[in-house]
Amino acid sequence: MESPAPFPYLEAVVGFMVFMYLFETYLDMRQHAALKLPTLPAPLVGIVSMEKFEKAQAYSLEKSRFHFVHAAVGIVEESATLLLGLLPWTWDKSGSLVGKLGFDQSSEILHTLAFLAVITLWSQVLELPFSLYSTFVIEARHGFNKQTLLLFFRDIIMGLALTVVVGPPIVAAIIVIVQKGGPYLALYLWAFMLLLSLVLMALYPVLIAPLFNKFTPLPEGELRYKIEKLASSLGFPLKKLFVIDGSTRSSHSNAYMYGFYNSKRIVLYDTLISQCKNEEEVVAVIAHELGHWKLSHTMYSFLAMQVLTLLQFGGYTLVRNSTDLFLSFGFTTQPVLIGLILFQHTIMPFHHLVSFALNLVSRAFEFQADAFARSLGYKDSLRAGLIKLQEENLSAMNTDPWYSAYHYSHPPLVERLQALDEASKKEE
Ligand SMILES: [Zn+2]
Repeated sequence: MESPAPFPYLEAVVGFMVFMYLFETYLDMRQHAALKLPTLPAPLVGIVSMEKFEKAQAYSLEKSRFHFVHAAVGIVEESATLLLGLLPWTWDKSGSLVGKLGFDQSSEILHTLAFLAVITLWSQVLELPFSLYSTFVIEARHGFNKQTLLLFFRDIIMGLALTVVVGPPIVAAIIVIVQKGGPYLALYLWAFMLLLSLVLMALYPVLIAPLFNKFTPLPEGELRYKIEKLASSLGFPLKKLFVIDGSTRSSHSNAYMYGFYNSKRIVLYDTLISQCKNEEEVVAVIAHELGHWKLSHTMYSFLAMQVLTLLQFGGYTLVRNSTDLFLSFGFTTQPVLIGLILFQHTIMPFHHLVSFALNLVSRAFEFQADAFARSLGYKDSLRAGLIKLQEENLSAMNTDPWYSAYHYSHPPLVERLQALDEASKKEE
């Protein structure tokens, strides 16, 4: 079964990458223009001070300018990597490296691990100037960075060490599963990833997160009492309530929850507690988070992820033996990992569509969680809390509708406040 002219995968992938770069840059330019607007959006006038607005504007504009440079370098890097055949070149070199180190060069697992080590280190090096500039120039200039250089590099090294420990067994398992193959390959791969994510979910809070942050139980007091009361009134299985020392790295603030269905944890950033004026605002933010749980948003997202993973592996099994695909990118052999990487490149258009759709759903979920908190009587404190977080994080006040529709997983503040107000009006 030979087609007369093989499909030009490489050219199509690079062409699409450039197209997406131009499209996203156009959106960035629209957003940049919105950020330059000299006044607050009408619903925030009188609520957010001019001082906060100007600070947020300066921060957003600086991040936006940085992003233009970062994205331009990124597209040059990525297309050069593909067009110059750096992937097959690196694959060959890592094979010889395995041999030089005295290992069995014909082992696909060792060859793949060497290849991954090379490209992981290489991408760390390429990213380093950007993450250094972003952390120690931009974040520092706007008062967010609390990190020392030492902590910064310690985080990178810890991350790499973790990859070295966790990565190889996973990669090896995937290669073995694909090599054993069979008609249900996609199902096996999906089941393996599901098992893996459950194991990581169980290990993460106990073994991994403590490597990077200190978790302390929220001390007894008004705040703890209120959160526990709220959780139990909703039947939320709150097992642990932690404060995390986010302030050692950044003064950005947040709160999140995670855990298996009958054993959940809530984690509050110490910065969230210090930034909100009173406990009610923190509790309102938690009420919003619990809304995601009560309305099964977490479950839906999990299920969506499972379906997408299964579809991806299904697609992969269709092309994994396509000689044309490998040849187009300059590969004369067909290693498992390379097949997965090339497949990921070719489904980029779907990726963009899916992430756009997921953002749409996520924004709908945010409105629902806000409405949930409102129905519990937290309307005013949620309003106040959201405004506080927006101000303290210097988030963009003016947003371009195209840009936010495409990129935002959370609706812009103005839209959230409007939705809260309208819902209350309807009830009057
Ligand atoms: Zn939310």
